[in-house]
Amino acid sequence: MQALEENKSVNSPNRQYTLERTRNIGIAAHIDAGKTTTTERILFYTGLIHKIGDVDDGNTVTDWMEQEKERGITITSAAVTCFWTQKKEEGLEKLFATVPQRINIIDTPGHVDFTAEVERSMRVLDGAVAVFCGVAGVQPQSETVWRQATKYKVPRIAFVNKMDRTGANFDNALADMRNKLKAYAFPIHLPIGAEENFEGVIDIVNQKAIVWGPGDLTTEGLKYEIKEIPDAYKEKAKAALQELIEAVSNKDDILAELVLEEKPIDPLTLKAAIRRLTCRIELVPVLCGSAFKKKGVQVLIDAVVDYLPGPLDIPQAEGLEPGTDNKIEVASDDKAKFCSLAFKLWTDPYAGKLVFFRVYSGHLKKGDTIYNPRTRKRERVSRLMVIQGSERKDIDAVYSGDIAALVGLRNITTGDTLCDEDFDVTLEPPTFPEPVISMAIEPKTKGDRDKMSEGLQRLAEEDPTFRCFTNEETSQLIIAGMGELHLEIICDRLKREFKVEANSGAPQIAYRETITKSAEGEGKFIRQSGGRGQYGHAVVKIQPNEKGKGLEIENKIVGGAIPKEYIPAVINGIEEAIRSGVYAGYQMIDVKAQVVDGSFHEVDSNELAFKMAGIFAFKDAVKEAGPVLLEPIMKVEVTTPDEYQGDLLGDINRRRGKIIGIDAKNGQTVLNCEVPLAEMFGYATAIRSLSKGRASYSMEPLTFEQVPNSVLNTILDSAKSRPAARS
Ligand code: GDP
Repeated sequence: MQALEENKSVNSPNRQYTLERTRNIGIAAHIDAGKTTTTERILFYTGLIHKIGDVDDGNTVTDWMEQEKERGITITSAAVTCFWTQKKEEGLEKLFATVPQRINIIDTPGHVDFTAEVERSMRVLDGAVAVFCGVAGVQPQSETVWRQATKYKVPRIAFVNKMDRTGANFDNALADMRNKLKAYAFPIHLPIGAEENFEGVIDIVNQKAIVWGPGDLTTEGLKYEIKEIPDAYKEKAKAALQELIEAVSNKDDILAELVLEEKPIDPLTLKAAIRRLTCRIELVPVLCGSAFKKKGVQVLIDAVVDYLPGPLDIPQAEGLEPGTDNKIEVASDDKAKFCSLAFKLWTDPYAGKLVFFRVYSGHLKKGDTIYNPRTRKRERVSRLMVIQGSERKDIDAVYSGDIAALVGLRNITTGDTLCDEDFDVTLEPPTFPEPVISMAIEPKTKGDRDKMSEGLQRLAEEDPTFRCFTNEETSQLIIAGMGELHLEIICDRLKREFKVEANSGAPQIAYRETITKSAEGEGKFIRQSGGRGQYGHAVVKIQPNEKGKGLEIENKIVGGAIPKEYIPAVINGIEEAIRSGVYAGYQMIDVKAQVVDGSFHEVDSNELAFKMAGIFAFKDAVKEAGPVLLEPIMKVEVTTPDEYQGDLLGDINRRRGKIIGIDAKNGQTVLNCEVPLAEMFGYATAIRSLSKGRASYSMEPLTFEQVPNSVLNTILDSAKSRPAARS
């Protein structure tokens, strides 16, 4: 047995699975690549569920919500805990054989409307399995997910799924990973057979063939046999081993030394080196299989344990001392002070409000008190649970490196740090994209308006890319999100979970405003009409903020020109002006504002007057600051047979689209474009008719760009006549 050294100084003796035996992983991919099926199979093989389900039957465990079952897509990232012990098997060396491991899986959604879910789960993962479709290779959403994993420094292994499907090609998928993702990707498995004759894999490190079925599914899954490599694959397998050793020794000094000394490299030595590189994000081991046909799944779970890091194998988390730039290390250590990140809010139909959180350091017991540096509030933890498949299991304590859910706590939102009161630290929260689409919504039954507002509020707490607010001019309720499907699902959840049926308006583009230069503005709110008057006066400086940096408002008043107690009111006014926009009534982004001067009146000054002064001063400044309108730009990928390329390109041009690249893939042409979302309504129908139904496309939000003058006036006019469009 491979010895597993456990660090006694960081592991509490009370925990069941030590940090070394913990894996927090995500399964990430483009929609339809097979994440749900793969997760489902893993849960079955790890004994968490006893009946194997297929997505197409709508009964998978991670698809909690009704509409997800109907749609077959996983919308919310459910954190599921399962357990795995690598079997000791003749001929198949494994790094941690017979050591029981705990694996927490965060199921990340693949649909573009739900990027926030992917972002927030990436933040708390230690490693990820990137699932690719063996036919389509690297698709746009897999690129996005890959970028997010890189941003959050998440080590990865790749699983090329659907090897049983017609057109599946492992070499193409691998080439795609190297070309499109620039991944240092090397196979550790190779497929045996292809398409309907896909039988199993060659384990390159162990130089063995692993072949599944035929046979019945047992509680341990579909049985496999370990065999000698068939003659037809011997050469290839040997060459792949040489290539792998070379690739690894290029980056790993320990292995390089052995190679130089021409020492024999045994499987465990090579595996340990692959593990080191994978944990350092310098190598991506590539596996293959067919989740659907249950081939390749057990060895995939072995690879998760072998190659993906535990919490101690990666750089430790860092937090900031609130209000300063001082970094504080938050190391995985049960005995340290408690610090965790709330990454997901969920209203469970049985248990109520759940807050999923990842513990970075220390431990938390039922009955303990946690502190939230954002609200400066304390709350007592009355219940803790973990989700095991569809079951909710109460637990007494949770330790560093684990993921669990808090039950019944209020005042917590996604991205909050939860810690010990004497460990005042803020972990970096995940960042979320701006909504790109909005629509007006009203209850079918008039009396349901309060119930609807409450439901929307709750849903907005759970999902940071979903916003709801009231249009002050029309009193309409407006909801805004990442796409039509996103908002459709919100309406569906309102109906199912809050029992409110909604009428919704047509989806509108969520334009944004920003400024292009610095300016100063002055605002006065002075009324003297007998009795007590009103007096508020503020001077505000504004300047463009870096793209994506959002809003920053500061008080720069030192001499008391505006008394301290009125400053929050001025800032409040500025925030309100930013929210409702100045130029065309759309929210402003990426602006820095400073309150620099003002004056007050001993008797007449009050909060309301200063709030109004803040609004006026900000609006005054914007007039001089070159305000512009921004529109969401989508990244669009169209896949089409060659013959329709011309027509489709012409159509993209008419939609103000930019063609970024044209590639050939699997006998099809792939057009990579960037198109304003405003021009993408009705595209599904257009592409169908232009290609006789043979082309397909996918799109996702890319960025916001300035609206060209040629269309600006139309938008400004319709914004005036349709205030519901504002967000
Ligand atoms: P997700 O959107 O990535 O979660 O993908 P799903 O797991 O929902 O799978 C999408 C579709 O592909 C479903 O119809 C699955 O049955 C099918 N599928 C998943 N894995 C495989 C596979 O290995 N082989 C084949 N042939 N189909 C698969």
